[in-house]
Amino acid sequence: MKWISSFLAPAIHMLYPQHCPGCGADMPVTTALLCVHCLHELPRTGFAGLHNNTTEAIFFGRLQLKAAHSEYYFSKGQLIQGLMHQLKYKNKPEVGIFLGNLLGESLLISSRFSQLDLIMPMPMHKSKEYKRGYNQATKICEGISEVMQVPVNTELLIKKEATETQTRKQRAERWKNVAESFTIIHPEKITGKKILLVDDVLTTGASLEACGQHLLRIAGTELSIATLAYATK
Ligand SMILES: [Zn+2]
Repeated sequence: MKWISSFLAPAIHMLYPQHCPGCGADMPVTTALLCVHCLHELPRTGFAGLHNNTTEAIFFGRLQLKAAHSEYYFSKGQLIQGLMHQLKYKNKPEVGIFLGNLLGESLLISSRFSQLDLIMPMPMHKSKEYKRGYNQATKICEGISEVMQVPVNTELLIKKEATETQTRKQRAERWKNVAESFTIIHPEKITGKKILLVDDVLTTGASLEACGQHLLRIAGTELSIATLAYATK
């Protein structure tokens, strides 16, 4: 089959030209989603193998984590912001899967993320997900899963529909609201599991903390966190 695909590749490329979503450069059919130049430009953190790294420090005193990692530093106006924008607003789920592959490779190299049972995305309201067509965090999970061979579960941790606007509430009230907006269906299916919770960008960590607390309340769970980008000050 390989000779057929190599024979057909130039024709497919002519019919369906591919462009690097980072810089717009013309791309051959068989290569990765991003061109080599853009791949090198992405600002990797190198956190995966580092104990007490900056992402883990965000959760000190908030969540008992086994390990945490963010693959890239987020910076405004840079390639990573453009890619995140395409993933979230431009109907480019493949960007999430591709970057999830890269994130998964970093996790795989580090022994700190071995023996996971489940990968779970930060859940989204169903109505929002329906509008966007997908949950971007799920796409990142799918990319990680391809590399790590650990199943993704999108059914057990969910976000309930918002009932009131958050903005007018006091800080404590808002936190309570965030915490209560998530729920776990069939907690018995998570008992004793080693879970990797995944989100696109780490900012304050409030939503990850809320979900993490739900997961850690279940007997015997062990929690790790991975995000594609790190955006806190
Ligand atoms: Zn490029």
